[in-house]
Amino acid sequence: MGQKAITVCFYVVFWVKEDMTALPILPHGTTAKPLQSGPLQRPSDGPTTHKLFDLWEEAQKRLWKPKFWWQNLMLRKGFDLTFIKPHEFRLLVPAHQLTDCDNCTEVCCTGPNSRVSLGLLDQARLIDAGLSHAIQQGPHGVNDSANKLWAQSASEESLFFRGFPVLKRDATQTCALLNENLSCGAFPHWPMSCERYPFAVNLENKTVFWAEGCASLHEVHEPEALLRGRQLFHAAIETYNQRIRDVILLYVAMPELADMGLLRHLSLHGTLERRRKKLLAAKTH
Ligand code: SF4
Ligand code: SF4
Repeated sequence: MGQKAITVCFYVVFWVKEDMTALPILPHGTTAKPLQSGPLQRPSDGPTTHKLFDLWEEAQKRLWKPKFWWQNLMLRKGFDLTFIKPHEFRLLVPAHQLTDCDNCTEVCCTGPNSRVSLGLLDQARLIDAGLSHAIQQGPHGVNDSANKLWAQSASEESLFFRGFPVLKRDATQTCALLNENLSCGAFPHWPMSCERYPFAVNLENKTVFWAEGCASLHEVHEPEALLRGRQLFHAAIETYNQRIRDVILLYVAMPELADMGLLRHLSLHGTLERRRKKLLAAKTH
């Protein structure tokens, strides 16, 4: 199996695993919000998020500059950077099947497996929303047995799984942002994994499926159900693509990410980790 094929497998394992375990809740009244065929409309983003979008524009140009040839080589050696497109994927979820969060008994934002990995964009949105206190270093950065077990059950090779932060949880293993009335305290600034849950991407057979972790579903025979299904489908695709942007940004725009406070909770390895530590050390002097 070639390097790229291996990388793809890791992606699939990571996402499937996450979908069976990371368990967001849809806020009450979600389906009453304005609907569109793309991902859920978010309110205007804040300064950190805007900077990240601008940085992504710049990173795409950098990738092809001679100065960044080494980073480009390393990226392509280690990762499959192919963005996935909605028309290439088949939706396995029946058209009218939706989550029934209001009547759900699972409460998927709590429990031993309710962890949500945070990409760069997720962190930027939480920072802009004043919720940075909910960002916590990932399983390899936290020294408790539950975290270690979780880390061992996943692909040790996944940069995202190992290196990116997670949403903080309390002693009862409940997301720190879950409100007393069981609605999401981060909505609409919630992480992309929460937004698209329980829809999930399977790269191997190019499908978007309903994650096993969510057993509370119902049929809604209204036009808006179709749109809601399309939103979740697009959100699942976009969540995957955002991870590709994240890894490119890490390789070609790390100093800017440090300035934006987006490296603080990461735990990388090798050259990337050495660069990260150096940049953070320089900022404290
Ligand atoms: S951010 Fe919101 S949806 Fe996501 S796990 Fe926390 S409470 Fe649940
Ligand atoms: S398990 Fe499914 S239906 Fe229940 S709160 Fe989570 S997403 Fe909603």
